[in-house]
Amino acid sequence: MEIENLCKEIRNRAFERKEPKTPEQVGASWYNDDLTYDGISKTLFIILPTPGCAWALGDSGGCTMCSYVSDCTLEPIDTETIINIFNDHLSRFDIESEDKIAVKLFASGSFLNPYELPIEARDEIMTTLANMDNVREIIVESRPEYVKEEYIDGIFDIIGDRLFEISMGLETSNDYTRLNKINKGFTFEDFENAVKLIQDLRDNKGYNIKSKAYIFVKPILISESEAIDEAIQTAKDCESIGVDRLSFCPATIHSGTVIERFWRKGAYQPPWIWSCIEIINTVRREVAIPALLDTSGFGSRRGPYNCKKCNKDLKHMIIRCNLAQSPVEYDCECKKEWMAEVNNADMNQSKVKIKHIPLY
Ligand code: SF4
Ligand SMILES: [Zn+2]
Repeated sequence: MEIENLCKEIRNRAFERKEPKTPEQVGASWYNDDLTYDGISKTLFIILPTPGCAWALGDSGGCTMCSYVSDCTLEPIDTETIINIFNDHLSRFDIESEDKIAVKLFASGSFLNPYELPIEARDEIMTTLANMDNVREIIVESRPEYVKEEYIDGIFDIIGDRLFEISMGLETSNDYTRLNKINKGFTFEDFENAVKLIQDLRDNKGYNIKSKAYIFVKPILISESEAIDEAIQTAKDCESIGVDRLSFCPATIHSGTVIERFWRKGAYQPPWIWSCIEIINTVRREVAIPALLDTSGFGSRRGPYNCKKCNKDLKHMIIRCNLAQSPVEYDCECKKEWMAEVNNADMNQSKVKIKHIPLY
């Protein structure tokens, strides 16, 4: 497929330009307030060292917007090293003083894939967290193909009745966009099956398990108004199949990706922040499950952008509204320009084929 070849070629060039990281360089952590299932609570975020996403390391070349694999070791890591790095990050924060915390574990790919994170390492991390009384929620990310009953059984044998959320990068409910413009390699049906398994395990085995969908705002070859419509439609489709939470991820330009190639050729711009606000306000009005809007890269040259005057205000306001699940209410002169683009612009439409853009 044309998109796979392009992804693979760009990915290989990125690997040539950049040395793989050491496990210690990959590990990272931070500690913030976040919206948990039990209200606002302190959340510890830990990036675990992994070889990188198997989808990006394989023949597909990975997704068109993602460069996480470039920040990984590219080689398997032994369990002892992973555990030492995990424990080191865990000890950096004063988490014992909190009554309840959530822990989000990022694997720069799929936490549930044993190639990316060995089962022994997974189990040791779960045991450590299960021994901490104040850890109420554990959140991980995975592609749907690794959402398997045996893996989830293994985790719940250790964590008991703690809440465990699996976040999956659905990106969009539109199969054509996901397969041809994002190169995600799975269908909406695959995602739905993973969500159903999660629901079945909750109903039949009593696991305290939840699902979350990441929704990507504005893939390549989509106009601003199509991006808004598709993100809102995706939220509604997620609600209809019983997804528990949503997180919108507006595009930022990662280096060494297909999206960066389009951006450099002038064939792509990240979404306006106004578009993101339109999406989140509509979803908070019309969809009954909690929805977050990620503000990474907002106001930067490579991220969602409005104007110098309102970028910063909006970023802070969106973070506050995420915690309160309230609408984002704001006005600025640049809104007129955004409306003109949404109503009239015909650029970067989905009808444009990859082969019609001079990408080489
Ligand atoms: S978006 Fe997820 S599945 Fe796609 S390449 Fe990145 S980590 Fe892998
Ligand atoms: Zn503005």
